[in-house]
Amino acid sequence: MNPELPESRHESMDRPQQNVLVLGATGSIGTATVDVLRNLNQVDTQRRWCLWGASAHSQAEKLLEIQAEAKSWHSSESPCRLLLSDENIGKSLVETRRTSQKETDHADSIGLGPESLVQAAQSPEVDTVVAAIVGRAGLESTLAAIDAGKRVALANKETLVVAGPVVQEKLNGSPAELLPVDSEHSAIFQCLQGSKDSPRKLILTASGGPFRTWTKQQMTEATRESALAHPTWEMGPKITIDSATMMNKALEIIEARWLFGLPADAIEVMVHPQSIIHSMVEFQDGSVLSQMSPPDMRLPIQYALTYPDRLPCDAPTFDHQNNWNLDLEAADLDRFPALNLGFEVAKVGGTAGAVLNAANEEAVGLFLEGKIRFTDIVEGCADVLRHHNFEPSPPLGRLLQLDGWARGELRKRMNLQS
Ligand code: NAD
Ligand code: MG
Repeated sequence: MNPELPESRHESMDRPQQNVLVLGATGSIGTATVDVLRNLNQVDTQRRWCLWGASAHSQAEKLLEIQAEAKSWHSSESPCRLLLSDENIGKSLVETRRTSQKETDHADSIGLGPESLVQAAQSPEVDTVVAAIVGRAGLESTLAAIDAGKRVALANKETLVVAGPVVQEKLNGSPAELLPVDSEHSAIFQCLQGSKDSPRKLILTASGGPFRTWTKQQMTEATRESALAHPTWEMGPKITIDSATMMNKALEIIEARWLFGLPADAIEVMVHPQSIIHSMVEFQDGSVLSQMSPPDMRLPIQYALTYPDRLPCDAPTFDHQNNWNLDLEAADLDRFPALNLGFEVAKVGGTAGAVLNAANEEAVGLFLEGKIRFTDIVEGCADVLRHHNFEPSPPLGRLLQLDGWARGELRKRMNLQS
């Protein structure tokens, strides 16, 4: 991604109505995005922010609540389109609405199945797609939005982990804009504004998660509850477990490699338990810039929507009367071996990202189901990664094949049935 986008690329921001499609609207990022849109409709005097469409996998009720709230933001009669990627749940929602016979219920504005998300992401009416689905399930709709030349506010880091080179190729010469939502990558993007020279280093900060001070031995006994108790961020379960293993930071190393086009050895990780410094950039002259704010995802989400504009945000700001401790320490690669996997995959690219991501998604699911130990997650991922036949330039189809292979292989290595 080129942080210095030419002016013409921001023309869509001049439109008085911004149509936003939120994929994964019922999740942690999705809900925060709805908060941001509510705020923007109060503070933005130039534009009206419409929730054009919203998707969920299965939480139909929550989606209906979002639709009801968004009604007041729309200038036209057409309501926010609802997309249910779980087709059966979507069908029962359509049925309920048909039989309710309320004039206000538009059964025809409900899309069913994953393909409906892809179609919505390509609608000519949509300006911005917020990619907030968790995991590899967000890949096709995110790629579709890029193909259609949209502004994509990217939370779904797994898209870049699985298919970084494919995304890079699609962005080449395309009007699409890929703007980071992940707080670390948003921080780097913000620090890069106005700089023409390539930076020397990107320093990703990490909270260290709930096991920052735990020994390796203690981590073998970690329970689901302790792993889900993140000290600074409230997030969905998958990324919360990823934060505990520090696989989240590994995925973010890979994400940074593809977003900012720097090699793996120009990326560093530092542990910062307060989660206030969201990341740092070291420039050629040795200057280091950071972006700081109390931990709240509404700020990076809003920046991705309004970039290059900055508008008042609902997220908490610094209390300047407080004493602030900002600790920074080197990451411990021995206790958190996931980081090594992140650097390795960012370095080799090719098929490695798809394999690591799929093995990790499978392992996190198994841990949450109580079927494997906490430390099995990263050990299993390393094992699957070592045993795959690396290919340097795979097409998308091959990456998707390997996704299935890696999930089966992880289960096999954990002595579990596929
Ligand atoms: P979440 O679990 O809270 O929400 C996930 C959303 O995806 C839900 O709306 C759910 O309905 C939808 N979904 C789940 N499975 C699906 C499927 N198979 N098909 C289609 N939709 C499906 O997750 P989250 O914490 O909001 O994270 C979303 C993404 O944002 C992840 O990629 C995560 O890494 C990234 N991210 C999250 C945070 C955070 O603070 N939560 C911060 C940075 C990045
Ligand atoms: Mg992050």
